Order: sequence, then C-alpha cells, then structure tokens
Amino acid sequence: MFDDLPGLLDDLRSLYEDLHAHPELSFAEHRTATLLGDRLEGLGYTVTRHVGGTGVVATLDNGVGPSVLLRADIDALPVTEETGLPYASIVRSLGEDGREVGVAHACGHDMHAAWMIGAATLLARQTARWSGRVLIVLQPAEELASGARAMIEDGLFERFGTPDVALGQHVAPAPAGTVYTRPGVTMAATDALRIVLHGRGGHGAAPERTVDPVVMAASTVMRLQTIVSREVAPTDAAVVTVGTLHAGTKENIIGDDAEMTLTVRTFDPHVRTHVLAAIARVAEGESAAAAAPAPPEVTTFQSFPALTNEPGATARVAAAFAGHFGPERALVAPPATASEDFGLYAERGGIPSTFWFVGGTDPELFARALRSGRLAEDVPFNHSPRYAPVEDPTLATGVEAMVTAAMCWLGG
Ligand SMILES: [Zn+2]
Ligand SMILES: [Zn+2]
Repeated sequence: MFDDLPGLLDDLRSLYEDLHAHPELSFAEHRTATLLGDRLEGLGYTVTRHVGGTGVVATLDNGVGPSVLLRADIDALPVTEETGLPYASIVRSLGEDGREVGVAHACGHDMHAAWMIGAATLLARQTARWSGRVLIVLQPAEELASGARAMIEDGLFERFGTPDVALGQHVAPAPAGTVYTRPGVTMAATDALRIVLHGRGGHGAAPERTVDPVVMAASTVMRLQTIVSREVAPTDAAVVTVGTLHAGTKENIIGDDAEMTLTVRTFDPHVRTHVLAAIARVAEGESAAAAAPAPPEVTTFQSFPALTNEPGATARVAAAFAGHFGPERALVAPPATASEDFGLYAERGGIPSTFWFVGGTDPELFARALRSGRLAEDVPFNHSPRYAPVEDPTLATGVEAMVTAAMCWLGG
C-alpha cells in the first residue's frame, strides 16, 4: 500500500506548509475547503461542498464492501503564532467579539488535512487492494465543538449513507513516528460555563455603600479551586479552569457585576454532575456571603460528551498498527483532558468509532525534556503559540496510520 508514499511526501509537505501559512478560523475555512475539495476531485473522488457550512464530503466507491468514514478537522485557532518557522502564519482576522486576532494552526488540524490528502491519494491509486466506500469528511469548526453537529444536521448520513465505522486521528505532543490507541473513554467531556456575579456599584472610596463584585469574584475563583481538590476522589479526575474574569472600568469605581467563564473537564458522568452542581453551589454561596442584591447567573454555553472508543474497532486498529509500525511505535494512549466532537459521528450514526493520536514532536527534543523533567516547559502542547509538529516523520506516519486503519475494514 505504501510504495508510492515516499514519492508523495514533497507534495504533502508543500500542501501542509501552504495550509499552515493560511489558517482560517472555525466556520470560515473557505480557502482551505476549496483547496482540499479541489485536490480530492482531482484524485477522482465525488466531492460535495458546503455540508454544514464549510464542510466537505468526498466519496470513492469501489465495489461491494463496508463504508468507512475518515474524518479530518480543518479549522485553526485565534492564536498569534510564535514558532519562528519559515512557513509560520502571519494571518490576522476578526475574532468572535469583533476584535482583530492572530490566527494559527496551533492545534495541528493542517497536519490532519495533509494526512487525509495523502491517505486519499494512496487509496485512489490502489483500488485493486480494497473494496467498499471511502467516505472522507473534512470537518469545520472542531474548535467550537460544533462542526460535527453542523455536518450531521445538514444530512451527512441521509445524503451519503450511514458508514460502518468512523475513524479519526489527532497530532499530539509525543515523539514523532509513534501512534497511540486507547479503548473506552479517551478524551474528556467538556462543559463551558459563564458565571455573572451581581454586586452593587458605587464610589471606590465608599465601599460600605456597595457590594463589591471584584471581591466576590476573587473569593469565588479561589473557592472553585477546592471542588477538584476537596470534593472529587483522588482516584477520579476533573479539571475546573477559570479562563476569563472581567469586572470594573476604573480604579476608583466599584462596578455592578463581575463575569467569568470556565471550562470543566470530566471523564465520568457522575463526577461531571457533581462538579457542575458544586460550581453553581459555590457561586450562590459566595453571592450570599457577600450579601449580593441578586443571585448569580450560571449558564452553560457549550457542552459535549466524553470521547469513547468502541473496544472492538479499537482492538482491530491497534492490532493493525502493531503489525505495521511495530510494538515500539504502536503504543497505548493515556486518557486526555482535551476534548473532541469526533464522538458525535458514532453517537448520531449508531456506529462504532475509534480515534487515535500520532506523535508530532521532535523525538530528540522529547527525550531530552523527559530526561530533565521539563516536558511541560520544553515541549509545546496543542493550542500553544509555539506548537507545531515536525514535518518528518509526522506526515508519513499519519498517512500510514489512516490507510492502515481504513484497510482493516476495506481490505476484506
Ligand atoms: Zn484544538
Ligand atoms: Zn484539535
């Protein structure tokens, strides 16, 4: 299957660098979708554009056999790139709040797209070796956790048939050349919350006439830290992070309100229910303790379930990876507190799915950081302005992984 791969790599590298230098925010992936759709059309795929906004679906039918959904996400992040790479992004764009932001492929979705073109090319050239249907999904807006839903609600399964399995992969801060599978719960459930604390504003010189929302917010933030440390069992896991906190306009004015947004990550539904209830309880308790004139508003503005890999499909892919890459390169992934909307394809389609990780960090840098206990400092994580995978052997590994996994079903 892979004889042609070395000859494809120069082209995949320039495609990857082109995508990397031209990142587009969620649901604005117009250039990316056009370029990738054109490439797939050129390979002989039947391409349907604008599925769920900027999504692209490409099918290749080759006789009787299973239908395999292969998914790559294509959106970038509002991050100003600091990798110093010759193909680093200098793109700026308007963010959600209308303010200008730097845009970068800081999560590596450009790598996912390049892998998919590589895999699509090999599958299209080697039709004698497989039968069935390849159903490629280029998904927008993974970072908003809404692209998968948008494509499904635009009739993905009704229009293109419900596949027999869904496969996806993500580049990760692990040594390049390695692949990581995991059966069962693999990525956390995410809940994004907004808390508005209501105080009573006034003159900064007369605090006794006010209810200060800044003090209320400060003690709420500190008290929220005790949920994971004091209420979640040490054998369970959860994350509560307050990502934004806004209050006030001037040093001598006490404002009316404070607003914060949080991300909550959990793996177990019972832990999730407990943590979400505890957050509301803390906000209400701190408001009551401050004699707030009105109770706080706690709202969830984004929510998606944990990513669970179906054990049968995962075992099949893991065995194929061990055969292709060898046991030193085919490893088991620990659970990740990051999240993914990939699980929705399985949930809505009622089909098995599995999602794996492909290392993208320079193996020497990784080994050095591991030896000196400096992984967190020296190995940039996805979403960091310094994050970008090394091209080799990451590009080839992801192409091989996707084709190897697809062939578990298509190869008969
Ligand atoms: Zn991401
Ligand atoms: Zn991602």
